[in-house]
Amino acid sequence: KVRVRFAPSPTGPLHLGGVRTALYDYLFAKNQGGEFVLRIEDTDTARYVEGAEDYIEEALEWCGIIADESPKKGGKFAPYRQSERRDIYDRYTEQILKTDYAYIAFDTAEELDAIRAEYEARGDVFSYDNKTRNLLRNSLALPEEEVQKLLNEKTPHVVRFKMPVDRTLGLVDIIRGNSAVNTDTLDDKVLVKNDGMPTYHFANIIDDHEMEISHVIRGEEWLPSLGLHTLLYEAMGWEAPQFAHLSLILKPEGKGKLSKRDGDKFGFPVFPLNFTDPETGNVSKGYRESGYLPEAFINMVALLGWSPSDDKEILSLDEMAKEFDLHKVHKAGARFSKEKAEWFNHQYIQKTSDEELLNILKNSDLNLNISDDKLIRIIHLMKERATFPKDIYENGKFFFEAPASYDEKASKKAWNEETSSILGELATHLESTEFNAEALKQTVHHFAENKGLGMGKVMMPLRLALVGELKGPDVPDIMELLGKEETTSRISNAIN
Ligand code: GLU
Repeated sequence: KVRVRFAPSPTGPLHLGGVRTALYDYLFAKNQGGEFVLRIEDTDTARYVEGAEDYIEEALEWCGIIADESPKKGGKFAPYRQSERRDIYDRYTEQILKTDYAYIAFDTAEELDAIRAEYEARGDVFSYDNKTRNLLRNSLALPEEEVQKLLNEKTPHVVRFKMPVDRTLGLVDIIRGNSAVNTDTLDDKVLVKNDGMPTYHFANIIDDHEMEISHVIRGEEWLPSLGLHTLLYEAMGWEAPQFAHLSLILKPEGKGKLSKRDGDKFGFPVFPLNFTDPETGNVSKGYRESGYLPEAFINMVALLGWSPSDDKEILSLDEMAKEFDLHKVHKAGARFSKEKAEWFNHQYIQKTSDEELLNILKNSDLNLNISDDKLIRIIHLMKERATFPKDIYENGKFFFEAPASYDEKASKKAWNEETSSILGELATHLESTEFNAEALKQTVHHFAENKGLGMGKVMMPLRLALVGELKGPDVPDIMELLGKEETTSRISNAIN
């Protein structure tokens, strides 16, 4: 049975890379008819950020990435929050200490700092590993009585992994293929901290085993841990899951990892939802609050590193799940593009019904003092040019209020001495016209023809009078929507 987990640490808001990992986890699980699990890895209390767990859950929900098992939902392997699984870890700590793969280390932080400084002074780098461990204060180096004594005295200690000497490990990654690492390049990582809590590495493999995870799909920053994890499974006598490590999401320029600062620099959000830093009170912008539709957002995220076989670009979550293939995930990093993100949103706005857009606009903080009926008609006219829902309002502001001034450059282009009298005369013709776009168009056409004027000579100043600028949808459509009274009033304002 395929079981995949997303295992974020609540150390801050989920970023784009995290969303993509969660999405690929989800898509792979669904593609395989398997289960998708959300597990919160909160054993590192020092890095815990208030509100981060709720943020992660809310963000995934907004994206439509719904877990089959999670801290809130529960499930067969509950609890799904590592801080609540202490008794399980205690059991396995005991187990690994009985093997030849772990030992107890008493070195204090000060002692280790001093050794590190010594090494540095010699131009060396200290590593707690299979070459140095014999010189340190641990159960491999000290006589047994001494270890017993220290333990009886409740001396603070950690449990470390005993990295084997000179073993070459074959590593298999679904996306990256085979590689190898020699254990002499790896250090003796802490498995259990002094407070008895396991570190990420130990808790992670215990839970993946306990929760019957079949595939671990995660960011490439964890690739260097794969050797250790492989050995941890061996030490515990467990079969390891399969692994797939996802490449970075790159800066828009293509070099280096996408960071929060790139977002500030180029004006795009890097988080799914607004995030308020509990310490500074600073708000980081989210896709949701910036006017992205969740379907557009995840579609964009999905294609950062994966493409379906037919290179189709617009896919729903279900379609993506149907097509998703880990073997087609790109090895190279995917470059983020703000323009592409906006393109996706524009596409999805076109797919969104007028009624739904009405709802979105009415639930926004825009001040829309206009009837639903009119708003729907504005949406219908304006959505074609909208990237964000609010563009409908902003590009169509003239529907809500008469122009307070007229664009100078446009006036120069559209207006001359005769314009006022021409528009004045046109206005009287409009008075007796039925206000639908077709009839209005006819009236303006006939008027221009009778006067021997080019269409532009009439349409341009008319547009300027109604909009204040030379933009917007077709003038007859604008007139129909504004209605007779408003149209003639705007014309008379412009010509007087
Ligand atoms: N808690 C780790 C993280 O925050 C999970 C890594 C993994 O998926 O193994 O990224």
